Amino acid sequence: MITFNNVTQVYDNGTVGLKNINLNIEQGELIAVIGSSGAGKSTFIRTINKMIDISEGDIQVDGISVSSLSGKKLRDFRFNIGMIFQSFNLITRDTAINNVLKAFVPKLNAWDTFFGKFSEEQKIKALEALDNVDILDKAFSRVDQLSGGQQQRVALARTNVLDPKIILADEPVASLDPVSSVDVMEYFRKINREKNMTFLINIHDVDMALQYCDRIIGIDAGQIVYDGPSSGVNDDVLRTIYGENYKSEIIG
Ligand code: ADP
Repeated sequence: MITFNNVTQVYDNGTVGLKNINLNIEQGELIAVIGSSGAGKSTFIRTINKMIDISEGDIQVDGISVSSLSGKKLRDFRFNIGMIFQSFNLITRDTAINNVLKAFVPKLNAWDTFFGKFSEEQKIKALEALDNVDILDKAFSRVDQLSGGQQQRVALARTNVLDPKIILADEPVASLDPVSSVDVMEYFRKINREKNMTFLINIHDVDMALQYCDRIIGIDAGQIVYDGPSSGVNDDVLRTIYGENYKSEIIG
């Protein structure tokens, strides 16, 4: 469902983000993208919903060439792709349920947006999405009263409520403590298994990548240097991805 054909991405200042990427991703895959800082993980993930434009080659999502999209077509396309960030991107002074409902705003007319008029169906869906990540009891709590892990679960519910086919997660556990990180990864996997959503997770923690994800894409200097099952990742593979000092790199 996602295909990269000879994709290269160069930033305006000449920095090469991605170099000649070729790969195929099927619906329902749970993928970790790993590599050193600056390797190109974030660039790779963000080209899929055209947050970053590519310079050469072609990315197809469900047969649609992503580069060709703009305006309303691009906005509609992005409804099928959820995005999760390290910083959660929630409105912290508002409640969890209101944050999840915000996902529907682009679908409302200007009048209903102004008055915050969501349909009963949307409200039920929002509560279900919170329930799905076991945080229904916090629906009416202000987000700034929740822990980091709970906030990321609200962000996951906000993404999930639109039933996207793909979720792109850019360092989703980087600012969480180990217990909350495990928690959030468990919910990624739960939703992946239950809804067959495709997940691409840019993650620094290799152990967690191997534990929770089925497929590992290893990037170094903008190129894919490993693409295979997590069970195939051994010391040699890690050395290829991170270089000779890989142990200090992935533990640090
Ligand atoms: P990672 O996510 O693996 O840390 P990135 O995808 O953020 O790596 O970055 C890949 C390369 O592109 C790095 O060399 C980085 O410095 C560079 N880069 C990232 N964003 C920009 C930008 N907006 N302008 C120029 N170079 C950038």
